[in-house]
Amino acid sequence: MKEKYDYLVVGAGLYGAVFAHEAKKKGKSCLVIDKREHIAGNVYCENIHGINVHKYGAHIFHTSDKKIWDYVNQFAEFNNYINSPIAVYKDELYNLPFNMNTFSKMWGIRTPKEAQEKIREQIAELNITEPKNLEEQALSLVGTDVYEKLIKGYTEKQWGRDCKDLPSFIIKRLPLRFTYDNNYFNDRYQGIPIGGYTSIVEKMLEGTEVLLNTDYFDFVKEHENIANKTVFTGMIDEFFGFKLGVLEYRTVRFETEELECENYQGNAVVNYTEREVPYTRIIEHKHFEFGKQPTTVISREYSKEWEKGDEPYYPVNNDKNNELYKNYEELAKNEPNVIFGGRLGGYKYYDMDKVIAAALELCDKELN
Ligand code: UDP
Repeated sequence: MKEKYDYLVVGAGLYGAVFAHEAKKKGKSCLVIDKREHIAGNVYCENIHGINVHKYGAHIFHTSDKKIWDYVNQFAEFNNYINSPIAVYKDELYNLPFNMNTFSKMWGIRTPKEAQEKIREQIAELNITEPKNLEEQALSLVGTDVYEKLIKGYTEKQWGRDCKDLPSFIIKRLPLRFTYDNNYFNDRYQGIPIGGYTSIVEKMLEGTEVLLNTDYFDFVKEHENIANKTVFTGMIDEFFGFKLGVLEYRTVRFETEELECENYQGNAVVNYTEREVPYTRIIEHKHFEFGKQPTTVISREYSKEWEKGDEPYYPVNNDKNNELYKNYEELAKNEPNVIFGGRLGGYKYYDMDKVIAAALELCDKELN
């Protein structure tokens, strides 16, 4: 370790790694620290008998931004995986996202016109003009049947809140289309990095010093002046000792097991949309890479409210939390030498491409 660096980067996830990579190219020195025993944050993959297991939840790279696509392709070649989840509701099985396959199965219809009419009929009775929350947004997009069977239970499990108390933008993440197209994303570019995500981050951090098992709050006590500036990608509220209040997050518990069968569910992602099944989805990791291994690894995902000590996964971006976040942002202005970023530092439900874009934007401002 040197005595002084240009930047201390807290968190070896995508945001921190992109920043460290670009900083190094500009001749700046970075020390990256992470409290976990590995790099790559929540995109970390663990290899179990040849299968890249997405340890902190499934990550499917997708973007419409050619610049970001070219950027990540410097670090890995991507396969041609297209995400097409299956939804299980009781004994019924549907395609996602909401498309003609879903509607045809739901209502026994065939044409887009029939599907649109069915939805129109269901919406007409509801009189929603301006959707104010996730429930109204979902109902007005897909009608009551799809909402009741494929959205309500899943969303309430995932967020631990009534759909009326959730912001509508969450459901707008999913495409709705009247074609027979099961691609979960509308983005131009999509895939899984061949060799897994960890090696992408490894390449980004090549030639940069990384300290693992290092908690920032302990570390700075002893190394207060280690860097001119800090890029902090942890929780912004924790940075300030939660002094304005605690921002809400959801955490996920994974029940991962290796099974002595080649193919457990025939798809990488199967969502369980009814309230009564305690997990939200089962991921069968090998299918992200068309794996042919003799065994398989699956993870059941259980969502719960974050408490101190848990890993934060999803910021709950409702009005109350966004307001509190804004107050933390104000506090951050008094810390000119600390830059906050990433899903936790920015308290935003970012996808990977958006995290990389935000990090590159910071690089433009900070390093030029
Ligand atoms: N969603 C749903 N039913 C599903 C899948 C998703 O109602 O079968 C809703 C749910 O509210 C979820 C949101 O859509 O939180 C966004 O889903 P996405 O797949 O983008 O979530 P992520 O993969 O980030 O967990």
